[in-house]
Amino acid sequence: MNCVELIQNHVDYHASSYTSLSDKIWELAEPRFQEYQSSKLLQDYLADRGFSVRADLAGEKTAFIAEYGQGSPVIAFLGEFDALSGLSQQADDIKHNPLKEGACGHGCGHHLLGTGTLAAVCALKACMEENHLPGTIRFYGCPAEENAGGKAYLVRDGYFDDCDLALCWHPELVRRAVYGSSTANFRAFFTFHGTPAHAAIQPEQGRSALDAVELMNVGVNYMREHMIDAARIHYAVTNTGGIAPNVVQQEAQVLYAIRAPKVTQVKELYERVCNIAHGAALMTETSVDIRQVAAYSNLISNSVICDQIERHMEGLGPISYTEEELAYARRFQTAISEMDRKMMPENACAAFGREIAQEQLKLPIYTAIAYGNHHEDMKGSTDVGDVSWMIPTAQFNVPTFAAGTAFHAWQAVAQGKSSIAHKGMLYAAKIMALTACDFLLDPSLVDQAKKIFMEMLGGEVYPNPLPPECQPGIW
Ligand SMILES: [Zn+2]
Repeated sequence: MNCVELIQNHVDYHASSYTSLSDKIWELAEPRFQEYQSSKLLQDYLADRGFSVRADLAGEKTAFIAEYGQGSPVIAFLGEFDALSGLSQQADDIKHNPLKEGACGHGCGHHLLGTGTLAAVCALKACMEENHLPGTIRFYGCPAEENAGGKAYLVRDGYFDDCDLALCWHPELVRRAVYGSSTANFRAFFTFHGTPAHAAIQPEQGRSALDAVELMNVGVNYMREHMIDAARIHYAVTNTGGIAPNVVQQEAQVLYAIRAPKVTQVKELYERVCNIAHGAALMTETSVDIRQVAAYSNLISNSVICDQIERHMEGLGPISYTEEELAYARRFQTAISEMDRKMMPENACAAFGREIAQEQLKLPIYTAIAYGNHHEDMKGSTDVGDVSWMIPTAQFNVPTFAAGTAFHAWQAVAQGKSSIAHKGMLYAAKIMALTACDFLLDPSLVDQAKKIFMEMLGGEVYPNPLPPECQPGIW
């Protein structure tokens, strides 16, 4: 049997075990660095299918690598499985209805992401065995994509050093290979320590940590005029020092997120923000502790891999849906917020171009391929970016939700166990395995991907954004 048929048949034959696995991970809904059961489910499945598994990597208990094959090329498949806090939601319900108030939910589809990637490596292993293909395939169980950038620690500790290329996918609203980039993003806590005092009796003795937080924020807000337009700086005051106005606050804390198109630009802005924090401490006679807790690098896409992905998307054609599935998606479109609905035409034009967007907007689930030439860079961040600075990397999207659905929202959680989500996941598995298979069959493609990769880097090397003292953790 040829590779294309074998891979497709393998995914289809095992479809029900993959859908029940992704449903289980949806139900577990474990957040960053606490994905113990989700990680174990994926590890056990891959071990049962003949992969050698090593876990607890780079200080991340829930990280693992499952490997099959030998020699080169070494292809990395990136799987995620973390949920988001506060997004608990009943499946299939178009009303906001938490399963458990305050619990987590899979609002970014990472239960599909991890399981679809697992299905891809299983199908590719079967194909390698049948056709005696050389090479090594590795499923990287990557924890804490959300808010902690788990992959950056795996990169820092060298787990990708001997890889030739990496593939990943993400549940989405459109079918596309991601030719664009994403923003780099640092997160850091600034904790100020002052001297407490009664605010009326001995104010002259006190030195306010809250004053320092406020002055730091003022300083950063003045800095905005003098930074590149594409940068974004957000902050949240995480400790005001208490609720008593008649006490000079001894401790106060602010969490900053700093984004820019390139990790080198974020590094520079971060240093300026740190200087402002030191300035605020000096002004208020307080001290400041700075603790960086996460860093995401920008995504460097690889057009050689993306071209292969697009070719397979064209070859497989669009996903077909039943009348029931289309009705389900239409029902969920009634739950889209007014703001998201208003954005739909603009987003569809950005993805498909004006002409195709007009047709696609009539459908409850988008079916067309969003070709590379329409792409804008992503405003958000992903830790896939860190891998992409090390080896040629490509990411692609497959529709898993009704058109217009917002991510990191209960509407996405509610659709996570639908047959639309399952179909998208299985489709992604096929595209991923077929693309990787091209690189196993033709080593010159690996060389081409590496050549483009070097051109994209333009002489730069990975500017490891994590200081040595920065460890994976829940904060
Ligand atoms: Zn995500």
